[in-house]
Amino acid sequence: MPLPRPTSVIRPLVRRLRPYVPGEQPKIRGLIKLNTNENPYPPSPKVLAAIKAAVDGRMRLYPNPTAEGLRGQLAKFHGCAPEHFIVGNGSDELLALATRAFVDPGQTVQFFTPSYSLYPVLADIHGARRTAVPLAAAFALPSVAQLRQQGVWDFRAALTFITTPNAPSGRGYSTAELKDLCRAQKGVVVLDEAYVDFAREHAFSLALQLPHVLVARTFSKAYSLCFLRVGYFAGHAEVIAALQKIRDSYNVNGLGQVAAAATLWDLPYYRRNFKRLIATRERLSAQLRALEFDVLPSQTNFIFARPPRWPAAQWRQQLRENRVLVRWFDAPETRDFLRITIGTDTEADAFLRAVRGILPR
Ligand SMILES: *Cc1c(COP(=O)(O)O)cnc(C)c1O
Repeated sequence: MPLPRPTSVIRPLVRRLRPYVPGEQPKIRGLIKLNTNENPYPPSPKVLAAIKAAVDGRMRLYPNPTAEGLRGQLAKFHGCAPEHFIVGNGSDELLALATRAFVDPGQTVQFFTPSYSLYPVLADIHGARRTAVPLAAAFALPSVAQLRQQGVWDFRAALTFITTPNAPSGRGYSTAELKDLCRAQKGVVVLDEAYVDFAREHAFSLALQLPHVLVARTFSKAYSLCFLRVGYFAGHAEVIAALQKIRDSYNVNGLGQVAAAATLWDLPYYRRNFKRLIATRERLSAQLRALEFDVLPSQTNFIFARPPRWPAAQWRQQLRENRVLVRWFDAPETRDFLRITIGTDTEADAFLRAVRGILPR
């Protein structure tokens, strides 16, 4: 009997799948890395000490399967019961779990464009339909009336993802407009608040008010813990319990649980960093505008800007040659822009120097 060919053992859906493309993580020294929205400031000294103190013989044991300690602290932080929370291996894991829990094969996963480019991939992996609906002018959230009029939006979609504040545009949405849209949906709505600590407003209350709404948060960006992969969903206890049923038994590693819990004990440290990053964001935005960049107002730790004179893709390449990495998304609605992560003031200055060096005098 001949052995099977490798491709013949792979599901057609997986063979055809175009995977998510993360921003590059090159190991080049001296590179200014403004391409993946990582926080330029390290975790607090208390968090690092807690992680180090946990590195001992206990590593042979499984971690707490439900991240009980961390969920208890999240409950205190948000002022509700631990049953409203599920913790994941990054919020990405929970976004994937949501497709498995709420979407039958052939049902619809819905999202706006542009928004987080993982959502269509999650739909494809699951064999779901996907509905991608353009945002309104200047990346505004369309109103329910506008969506009804256009007739593309699916008010019965099994699962709708909304990035708020939005990525990659950086635009913030009000809780009132999000609530209107959530109330019009029949299926689950995930409000992905990955960047909310840099915004004026958050919509956490909707996770407790509306049974079909989940709010996604992450320790990666604002809390400098990308490396350890911890995120969470908040929502109705029964909906959260459904997600708990289908996750891996030990989905969150022990050091991640320790680090995230320690983070919640040292919030003033992080709030100082949010202030610094917002100040750098506003300064960099103003300085880029003076260089004729069209900078959109940002409620996040990155800015979305249309560079002057020649195409954004070319700018990205020229910046790379000057040892500055930024992100560029090759889709019609994003291709004229660069997404620039807010780093330290020193990094912002180096970025501006590179831009000035590229522009003709
Ligand atoms: C970074 C990001 C995430 C993923 O966060 P992790 O917790 O690191 O998995 C989710 N949603 C959006 C919009 C993001 O930008």
